[in-house]
Amino acid sequence: MNKKNPLLLHICCGICAIESINQLKQKNYKIVGFYYNPNIHPEEEFLKRKKVVEEISKIFDIEIIYGDYEPQIWFEICERYKDLPEGKKRCELCYQIRLEKTCNLAKKYKFDFFTTTLTISPYKNSQKIFEIGKKIDNEKFLKIDFKQNDGYKKTLAQAKQYKLYKQNYCGCIYSKRIK
Ligand code: SF4
Repeated sequence: MNKKNPLLLHICCGICAIESINQLKQKNYKIVGFYYNPNIHPEEEFLKRKKVVEEISKIFDIEIIYGDYEPQIWFEICERYKDLPEGKKRCELCYQIRLEKTCNLAKKYKFDFFTTTLTISPYKNSQKIFEIGKKIDNEKFLKIDFKQNDGYKKTLAQAKQYKLYKQNYCGCIYSKRIK
C-alpha cells in the first residue's frame, strides 16, 4: 500500500504520542514527529519528557525533530494569563505557539500536513485546537481527534506496558502550582 503524503506531528509528550502515532499509522500517514514545547517548566522536566519521546522514536521507528527549549517565548505571550484556570486563554495561546512553530517547519520542509498529539488529552478541547490549527493554515492542518475511540485510555495502557515516565501536570509552571 502506498504511503500517504508526509505529515509533521507536533508531539507534546511521549505518552500522548503513542496512540496518536498508532492512529496515524493505521491511516497510513508517513509521519515525522516534532517535539517542541516551550511551555514546559522547569527545563529538567522538558528533558525528562524529551527522553520519553526518544524512547518512542525507537519503539515506533519514527524520525523526530527536536526543537530548542525556548521558555522566554512562552512567558512573553502567556505569563499575563497566569491566574486563569486550565483550558482558558493561556492554554489557547500555548496551543497556538506550538502549532505555529509546527506549521512553519512543515512549510520549510514541504510536509503536506501538520497536526498535534494535544487532542488526545481529555483535558484539552479538541474543537478549540482545530479552530486554532485551521486559522494558522486551513489547508495544511489536519483535524484528527485522537481522544476518539478511547484514545487516551489506550495510550495510558501502552505507556504502562513500556514502563514510561508519566508526568502529573500539564507542563507550565502555573499548571504545576495548581495541582
Ligand atoms: S496548562 Fe498546559 S496547555 Fe495550559 S498553558 Fe499550561 S502548559 Fe499550556
